[in-house]
Amino acid sequence: MEPEFHSAIIPAGFAQAIQTGNLCQQSIADFRLLLTNLFYRSINMETIASEKINCLIIGSGPAGYTAAIYAARANLKPVLYQGIQPGGQLTITTDVENYPGYPDGIQGPEMMVDFEKQAAKMGTDIRFGLATKVDLSQQPYKVWIDEEKIIEANAVIIATGASAKWLGLESEQRLNGYGVSACAVCDGFFFRGKEVAIVGAGDTAAEEALYLSKLCTMVHMFIRKHEMRASKVMQERVFKTPNIKVYWNTETEEVIGDKHVESVRVFNNKTGEKQNISVSGFFVAIGHQPNSDIFNGWLNMDEAGYVKTIPGTSKTNIEGVFACGDVQDKVYRQAVTAAGTGCMAALDAERYLGEKGLH
Ligand SMILES: Cc1cc2nc3c(=O)[nH]c(=O)nc-3n(C[C@H](O)[C@H](O)[C@H](O)COP(=O)(O)OP(=O)(O)OC[C@H]3O[C@@H](n4cnc5c(N)ncnc54)[C@H](O)[C@@H]3O)c2cc1C
Repeated sequence: MEPEFHSAIIPAGFAQAIQTGNLCQQSIADFRLLLTNLFYRSINMETIASEKINCLIIGSGPAGYTAAIYAARANLKPVLYQGIQPGGQLTITTDVENYPGYPDGIQGPEMMVDFEKQAAKMGTDIRFGLATKVDLSQQPYKVWIDEEKIIEANAVIIATGASAKWLGLESEQRLNGYGVSACAVCDGFFFRGKEVAIVGAGDTAAEEALYLSKLCTMVHMFIRKHEMRASKVMQERVFKTPNIKVYWNTETEEVIGDKHVESVRVFNNKTGEKQNISVSGFFVAIGHQPNSDIFNGWLNMDEAGYVKTIPGTSKTNIEGVFACGDVQDKVYRQAVTAAGTGCMAALDAERYLGEKGLH
């Protein structure tokens, strides 16, 4: 049998020289390089610290913090890693009026500070760090944090959320939360009796346009192509709604406004014709990206990358690994549903660890 060489460690020239028996000046230099590689590799292996814990929670949005509150109260001693957006998606919005318990509404970032405080008060070990790689082949499951540390956990709760896709305009970013939104169900209410615009051509865009049409006087819907991607049924519903005006072959050039959205400048990508349309709200409905890349190849996912869970539970295809919040929910995507599934994940984890005799 041919010896197997690890290409990342053994220089190609040296590997060839060993196989052919033809050692020369170059292969001696390669041999030195091999020793250096092995030396640094052993140092690196030694410096990657490993820590054994019972329950790991990845993500610090409503799902992760709710899972943490329940897991801590059940004495699972959870460790939670926050990722690059501590507090999750709600930290980039302003008013949240639909989360129960806040009759006067609350600012998104403030609400997430409350979530964090509650999770910490119950005993969650909250840490800043990003999960970069996983090995879910056997228990305890391994999760690399910032490529610097390995957490070995008996149960893993995935609450990594999803990110809304944006057009990438400077003005869209500047006015985000001040009339620009990626969630009609969350923010449509603020534009009752006003004119709004929406960008997108899929089922979600159609659904959001219909939702807005019940609150707003006019919904200007911009579609980049000459057709919609949405299902025929949804298209029919959009076309039949008198206060949705569809603009074909239309793209957004700029969202205009100083402190909040005042209008939008669009152009027809066939004729080049530009026009300014007065609107108070600008909704982007071009899709979401679930933050599930590091679980690729381990967990069952749909074609868009949403983690699949067993209906009515937070269980994934790997026992002891649970998913909650937007990373597994492409339908509702709300803070309260994320929190609800976070609770489910912690209860599922507790039961699982109990059955395994690990808790
Ligand atoms: C602009 C806007 C306004 C909204 N307004 C409302 C509203 O008014 N009401 C409402 O109910 N909903 C609203 N939503 C939707 C709501 O924010 C989401 O449904 C909710 O935040 C989902 O919670 P989550 O915990 O699943 O994920 P997220 O809030 O997305 O949090 C994901 C967390 O995972 C972390 N993470 C990701 N990858 C990793 C990793 N590899 N390692 C470690 N951590 C990781 C991130 O840092 C983040 O902390 C809004 C959304 C947006 C974008």
